[in-house]
Amino acid sequence: MRRTKDFGRRRGCLRCGRKRGIVRRYGLHLCRQCFREIAYELGFRKYS
Ligand SMILES: [Zn+2]
Repeated sequence: MRRTKDFGRRRGCLRCGRKRGIVRRYGLHLCRQCFREIAYELGFRKYS
């Protein structure tokens, strides 16, 4: 498996598979919705 820039486009959100509104921050690859939940768990509470 190669890590390419297509990674996000193909898989979309790692959690729900959604391909829209993907956020790639903190090494995560999640849609905004899942990112909010994950971020919250990680201690980021700004994204509300
Ligand atoms: Zn998601």
